[in-house]
Amino acid sequence: MNPVFVALDTPGLEFATSLTHQVKGHVGGVKLGLEFFGANGPAGVRAVQAAGLPVFLDLKLHDIPNSVAGAIRSLAPVNPAFLTVHASGGRAMLEAAQETIIKQGMATKLLAVTVLTSLDEVDMHELGQAGTVSAQVERLGKLVQSCGLAGAVCSPREVAGLRQVVGQGFTLMVPGVRPDWFKLGDQKRVMTPKEAMVAGADYLVIGRPITTDPNPAAAARRIAAEL
Ligand code: C5P
Repeated sequence: MNPVFVALDTPGLEFATSLTHQVKGHVGGVKLGLEFFGANGPAGVRAVQAAGLPVFLDLKLHDIPNSVAGAIRSLAPVNPAFLTVHASGGRAMLEAAQETIIKQGMATKLLAVTVLTSLDEVDMHELGQAGTVSAQVERLGKLVQSCGLAGAVCSPREVAGLRQVVGQGFTLMVPGVRPDWFKLGDQKRVMTPKEAMVAGADYLVIGRPITTDPNPAAAARRIAAEL
């Protein structure tokens, strides 16, 4: 099984479906977020699914339990392979979300975002959270697991620690990985896909190293070969 989900960070439906066709067979699926969903809605997601790859719908839902449950009911016909909520929505929200997945008969694996990879300790303290990012990620990971969700999203930096806390059988989806041959100036401490898998990731989210390559299929194959 190929663990790579290609992030299609685009509002373009044609770009998304074309790229999906190109990387089919070389990745495990594609990730669509709010940029795509806002522009194309559920019909757009279905068009990408029709191109033949599982979709990770990264909507990061975060609201009161009743509203999140309603949002998931509305998404039931889309039935994405993965869907995200924010772990910081709390126990009642997480339980309501998972209960809705089951009640609606969805095959969707519900994942909770722990701490956004854009936040550091200074940001967390400003938000009133003492302690380290990794401690917060582990606290939220345990909460998410106890609410019955399929897994969590965390950065490469936290994946080894979180894996120790949640054990096997709890899905860890990891963005923010970079092959050695694709470095951006703005990237500081990132792991390669291989390193993230060894650290305990089940799935990897990789965007620009594949989507900006003149030959996305070749880039995806190269990453798969390195794993
Ligand atoms: O950087 P790249 O293009 O690979 O990003 C792909 C996806 O990974 C983005 O859609 C974003 O949601 C996520 N990401 C992240 N943290 C980072 C970098 C990317 O969560 N540090």
